[in-house]
Amino acid sequence: MALTDAAYQSEPGGPLDVERGRYDRIARTEGRRLVDSFELPIRSGRAWEVPAGHVCRIVTIEGPQVADLNLWNRHDPRERMWASRTRQLQAAHVSRYDRLWSTLPFLRPMATVTGDSLEDYGRDEEGGRVHDLLGTRCDPYVRTMLSGEEFDYHCHSNLTRAVSGPPWHLTEYDVHDVLNVFQCTGLNDRDQYFMKTCPARVGDYFELFAEIDLLFALSTCPGGDLSVPMFGPDAGDAEAVCHPLGVEVYEVPQQALAGWEPPPRGAWPASTATEATCSQPSSAARDCSVSSASPRTTAWTTSDSSRASQAPRDSAAEA
Ligand SMILES: [Zn+2]
Repeated sequence: MALTDAAYQSEPGGPLDVERGRYDRIARTEGRRLVDSFELPIRSGRAWEVPAGHVCRIVTIEGPQVADLNLWNRHDPRERMWASRTRQLQAAHVSRYDRLWSTLPFLRPMATVTGDSLEDYGRDEEGGRVHDLLGTRCDPYVRTMLSGEEFDYHCHSNLTRAVSGPPWHLTEYDVHDVLNVFQCTGLNDRDQYFMKTCPARVGDYFELFAEIDLLFALSTCPGGDLSVPMFGPDAGDAEAVCHPLGVEVYEVPQQALAGWEPPPRGAWPASTATEATCSQPSSAARDCSVSSASPRTTAWTTSDSSRASQAPRDSAAEA
């Protein structure tokens, strides 16, 4: 193995060795039951639930459009997508069979990619690839910092509004680094992040299988297909290149789920467990670790947004 090979590897059959046959069965569309669908207008955000064992498909229904995605454990928002670890465990751009991993101390696959109509895009002549984990969401703070302008429909703002208030009760602090769906990005020869025009066409899709009960939030980026630079001397208003997106949630037939079960949260050495990270006394740390290894969690029912952001870790550990 060369030192330039992937640094993070597992043994054959290990956690990074996805059973492709299983996800091929899950990806089949026959027998699926549509349980939710909606259209996400331009420059807006929305949050919705995707239960474990369901798939969620994001579709370009009218034209190319970039979408910024956040994921949380539906029952404990402290567990959320960890973009940087996913870059290390999978790749900086994800496609079919890649998984989106959660933050510590959970560290488990939250979702697995089961469909990607752009998977053949590969690496273009400028080094661009699609479905980006390199960058993060656009936000009003960087907009004001770089251009002096105010704009209230950046992805950070859209995602914040989508999860604030009932029924989710999350806050701006819960919004995290995103997966940029349909977004073509790379690093130039000066090692700087670039964004190219979205290569998606009408009918393209990106599909995720929920490994645990998830809360999704998505923003239709105000940059639309990103063909108009957001910053710099050529920056302009991209509203004309913005398009709505379609979202579909399907129940997967039981036979396609044979042998699958929600993954447990990551193993946790007892010596690491302290009262700072576990609500139980340190002498009971192993019990805490073992009991919370169950994928079952207590329903998250707080109605107070400030408490919500502090997350009911205690109840999750007691589940
Ligand atoms: Zn954006």
